[in-house]
Amino acid sequence: MSNTETTFAGLNLAQPLMRAIADAGYTKPTPVQAQAIPLVLAGGDLLAGAQTGTGKTAGFTLPILHLLTAKPISNPRPGRPRCLILVPTRELAAQVEESVQTYGKYLPLKSMVMFGGVNINPQIKALRGQMDILVATPGRLLDHVGQKTLDLSGVEILVLDEADRMLDMGFIRDIKKILALLPRQRQNLLFSATFSDEIKGLADGLLHNPGYVEVARRNSTVELIAQSVHLVPQKLKSHLLSHLIKHNDWKQVLVFTRTKHGANRLTEKLIADGIPAAAIHGNKSQPARTKALAQFKDGTMPVLVATDIAARGLDIDQLPHVVNFELPNVPEDYVHRIGRTGRAGSSGAAISLVDKEESQFLRDIERLIKREIPVVAVDSFVPPANLPAEAPRPPRQAHGQRRNSGPRTAGAGTGNRHQPPREGQGQRQKPRNPQQREQQPRHGQQTHNENQPGKPRQPQKTPDQEHMSEAARHQSMPQPALFSPKAARRGR
Ligand code: AMP
Repeated sequence: MSNTETTFAGLNLAQPLMRAIADAGYTKPTPVQAQAIPLVLAGGDLLAGAQTGTGKTAGFTLPILHLLTAKPISNPRPGRPRCLILVPTRELAAQVEESVQTYGKYLPLKSMVMFGGVNINPQIKALRGQMDILVATPGRLLDHVGQKTLDLSGVEILVLDEADRMLDMGFIRDIKKILALLPRQRQNLLFSATFSDEIKGLADGLLHNPGYVEVARRNSTVELIAQSVHLVPQKLKSHLLSHLIKHNDWKQVLVFTRTKHGANRLTEKLIADGIPAAAIHGNKSQPARTKALAQFKDGTMPVLVATDIAARGLDIDQLPHVVNFELPNVPEDYVHRIGRTGRAGSSGAAISLVDKEESQFLRDIERLIKREIPVVAVDSFVPPANLPAEAPRPPRQAHGQRRNSGPRTAGAGTGNRHQPPREGQGQRQKPRNPQQREQQPRHGQQTHNENQPGKPRQPQKTPDQEHMSEAARHQSMPQPALFSPKAARRGR
């Protein structure tokens, strides 16, 4: 059944769900919904290849709400969910549970979200009431099991959402522990953006005769997004970003930095320039992250500066601008990042600020997305005359896969955008060290590690080391020839 033929009416969902869908303004199912909803309604297991942004959450939430309503149980017990949705990050957990509430608003079912990094007591209290659907990250869930505040023996439906991310983050042992606590007879739905051998192994052990759904990866839908590159030396990036935001009157910009420290520094600089901004990353408390995200979503905070991990799964409707303050060194992360804009059919703009040292990253990204990203000059930008001098510091010892800190021969923006590859770059390795998890899954001590999922393994750095490497890079940089006309092919 192709998506063009499928309507929500044809999916036979209960009327209260149809009303909620109409309230949400959805006119037709997305491809993953058109394919997954009938399979889930039929009661079978499901293996689905779909990323955030495809409408996958409604793809499993709608039929689950339908099934739980169609088969009410006579003796609901507190702290004993009928459906468990496991997700890798706190933000995704919050968003999925919000979707459950949105789509289930005309139903009597109750849901709850559970993640670490926040006080466990309100969760314990909530578990004393009715709860049909539980959305949880694995670590905090096991804490509750340990405290006997949660009973998983009534789970009829299990969802593993973003299963590949959960494995990347080292959650496999926790997942296995959780699976062992569930009733054997149940429906299993596994959603993953990628299908590594490890995911296939997990699926083989978990799913019984699953239905199979795969929708286009974002890599093939980036056409919706207007992408551009501004060539700019690292030390001018924050100035250029302030200029772009003010000059173009951008109202909602999600900015990606590579490190938490970088996110903080950029946020401070933007605020100093009179642009309200907040950083969101693993060192921020959960309340601070939630507040920043809420302000960004409701339009009161125009700029959110995020690291890849913190931004994972963020769903912000029709985000108009995404800025890569630094390019990610894993090309797939670029696709994830720019997928924050152009969601569910709307168009958006993704702007990358690229230092000459990042040209190999740019080339890797262009190879992945099979297109060249136009380089655009910013004629209106006048670099500040007196940049503060960088404190001379000794160059940092090269860290294998980190950037090359050797002397450079040309300033950024001189048109030499494609340098020869540097050793070890562009390789993807999965972190297997539990310390590299975004969420330390035990004891509620969940801290994000932003160097992580899917990134080449690197030694942990202190903020000082981070700063030093930046200084060392700048030190070796000649005064930039900004936006050389030769280099700046005008794309749009
Ligand atoms: P997800 O992939 O689940 O994170 O969903 C991405 C976005 O698509 C969310 O903002 C949903 O509200 C939106 N969405 C989900 N289903 C539909 C639909 N059928 N039509 C329009 N937008 C949708």
